[in-house]
Amino acid sequence: MPLLQCGNWVLEGKSSSAVATYIRIKELDLIFDLGRCPMNFIGTNHVFISHFHLDHYFGLPIYISQRWLSGMPPGNIYVPSSGFKQLKNILDRISTLDAGRNWGYQITPVEAGNSIPFRQNLVAHILTGNHSVPAVSYLICEVRKKLKPEYRDLSGREIVALKRSGVEITNEVQLPLVAYLGDTRGISLDAHPLLTQCKLLICECTFITSEHRERAKKTKHLHLDMLPSLLEHFESEYIVLNHFSRRYTPELIRQEVFKQLPASEHARVHLFL
Ligand SMILES: [Zn+2]
Ligand SMILES: [Zn+2]
Repeated sequence: MPLLQCGNWVLEGKSSSAVATYIRIKELDLIFDLGRCPMNFIGTNHVFISHFHLDHYFGLPIYISQRWLSGMPPGNIYVPSSGFKQLKNILDRISTLDAGRNWGYQITPVEAGNSIPFRQNLVAHILTGNHSVPAVSYLICEVRKKLKPEYRDLSGREIVALKRSGVEITNEVQLPLVAYLGDTRGISLDAHPLLTQCKLLICECTFITSEHRERAKKTKHLHLDMLPSLLEHFESEYIVLNHFSRRYTPELIRQEVFKQLPASEHARVHLFL
């Protein structure tokens, strides 16, 4: 399975337009989209689905049933709210067909504007996608407690005393870690104030050649020629392009991406092929 190292994180999975997209970051205990479900993904506890195209969610029955069969607690699955009921319906029918009863599962419908805390210290902000079916993007932030500025000059003993007396001495701050755009024709830069500061941006780039500009527009995907003006706004240390069309060979993708993106972007752009 392809692996891509981005600092402390390893991206595992696969992403090919119309075939399957599933990307796990084990260090964050999460998976973005689940078009297929490799067996080693079963133990990962959080699954964020961007939209209901088969290549992005059809691994869910395997993920759910394998956890159920192994006696594991249900994983936490997040899906766009439009389509949530149909998905439950499908899963209930498949599980009845498969096991004669319902698998236990946990699915949370999400929509743009929601913020979903998960694990102890992470939060997923739900952003609007722009695709041919309702879609969302995700921004994952780490939540940290930071000492309020007015207490910064106090000694350790004074801080402990204040804390014991019930004074709230910290503020909550958020560190933007990963943005996952899913399938989308673009992303509004003000979708979230921290979006452009994310450390890792996972961005679709379905079409890359000039002959497919119209197709990209029609099917609501990003085209490589839209990326320079988008990426220049991102401070991200790592930019991972994924979801390339099957029409292109890896050689052509490499060649076109690094030809069309300015040299200043090359060091931080990585391809998930
Ligand atoms: Zn797709
Ligand atoms: Zn799609």
